[in-house]
Amino acid sequence: MPVSDSQTRVCPTRIDHAPALFTHKVNEGTCQDRQRGRYHKCYTCAYNNAYVAARGLPEVATREPKPVVEVKEPRTVRVSELLPLRAI
Ligand code: SF4
Repeated sequence: MPVSDSQTRVCPTRIDHAPALFTHKVNEGTCQDRQRGRYHKCYTCAYNNAYVAARGLPEVATREPKPVVEVKEPRTVRVSELLPLRAI
């Protein structure tokens, strides 16, 4: 039986949101099997049962790319606003 995207999770989904080098999709049963087997990536995964019990399921990543850097308007500063230099 085919599994829909809503029933799968990206394994691993790191707690610190860092991209993992190798990922794949697993269903919940496979995820639970791996956690019971002490899969080494589960300790830092947002789908880890202990982490989910404390904070809930992670949000599913949206396909909308987030801006990497927030661009701010340039601000001019008058010389009189700068702190005076002091000799040490
Ligand atoms: S908890 Fe473990 S098995 Fe489940 S998605 Fe995370 S790394 Fe994969």
